[in-house]
Amino acid sequence: MTAGRIRIDEVIKDGEKIIAVSRTSPFYPDGKGGQLGDRGKIGPANVLKVKEKNGYILHYLDAHLEPGDYECEIDPARRKDIACQHTAQHILSAAFLKVADLETVSFHMGERVSTIDLNAPFVLEDVLEEAEDLANEVVRSCERVEILEIEKEEAEKMNLRKLPNVEGKVRVVKIGDFDVTACGGFHVENTGEIGLIKIVDTEKVKKVLTRIYFTAGDRALKDYREKDKLLKSLSRVLTTSTKELLKRAENLLEEVKEKSAKLDKLSEKYAEILSKVAEPEKVGKYYLYHFSGTPEEMKYLPKFLADRKDTIVLLEHPDRIEIVSNWIDCRKIFEKLKDQLNVEGGSSQKRAVITANSASRIVEKLREILKWF
Ligand SMILES: [Zn+2]
Repeated sequence: MTAGRIRIDEVIKDGEKIIAVSRTSPFYPDGKGGQLGDRGKIGPANVLKVKEKNGYILHYLDAHLEPGDYECEIDPARRKDIACQHTAQHILSAAFLKVADLETVSFHMGERVSTIDLNAPFVLEDVLEEAEDLANEVVRSCERVEILEIEKEEAEKMNLRKLPNVEGKVRVVKIGDFDVTACGGFHVENTGEIGLIKIVDTEKVKKVLTRIYFTAGDRALKDYREKDKLLKSLSRVLTTSTKELLKRAENLLEEVKEKSAKLDKLSEKYAEILSKVAEPEKVGKYYLYHFSGTPEEMKYLPKFLADRKDTIVLLEHPDRIEIVSNWIDCRKIFEKLKDQLNVEGGSSQKRAVITANSASRIVEKLREILKWF
């Protein structure tokens, strides 16, 4: 932990939240310059979140403190990770600029992955790889990262990737001869500390931008480890090598598709035969067919039965009841069932679907209703 001192001017209780307010703080606030904020301790309390508001720093704590002076500690591992992700962002942004003249219009650092938005609606796979390669070359070259506090006029002469709109001194981050830009955040001292920069995903945003998701340092290693484990688990489940995994998955999907088509044909055939042998129950002037089974078994029954004069087909699924008929307005049946049995579902003219896991109550009521139709 990096130790320091902090003066708490006021402590506010907002529901469950305890907020310690200071004019100045060694804790870097969340979201400032697109970065993550610091965590650590103020006295005995843990810092859960840090916000900057109207020139004050708000520390969200897990325990109450009285206003006053305190020892504080900042979590160095988290700050190192922030520095790593942030410097990786400088390098990746500069790499896209060099490889394909793509500019970074915004940056966001997340707890798992970080993003840069590039000013192009799509970025070719080759460009992604080239930029990633170049970024990792800079990492492996162990370039010095220098922080310079210089006058704006001087900074203007340095051909910065990004020049801020500020008066007076400018804080400039220089990564060897590779990149120079203005920035107020945390950075590593040497690019070698980053270890690895990996692009993990892309997404088109706001119609004209491409969002690049990336990880760096320990996060990148952790991500690799997780994905590696996932691939190995998949290859165990699908009983093939990781190399053959894609082919195996494609073959299995193809097999499933073929079997589904065959099953569909069999369902139709089965329904045709069943429709010839099934006996209906006569209710009033109607013929009521009642089936129960799997969706595949019953899918085609209405096709072979619903056109028969004065026929009503009731299909009992494990979780719902369907009533299908071309001879009666199913909406009217549904309304009556809804009124009298308080059932849920919906209906069109030729098909009502009722949420229920037993048909007996509904069939009984249906018999009563049909006598009046
Ligand atoms: Zn920076």
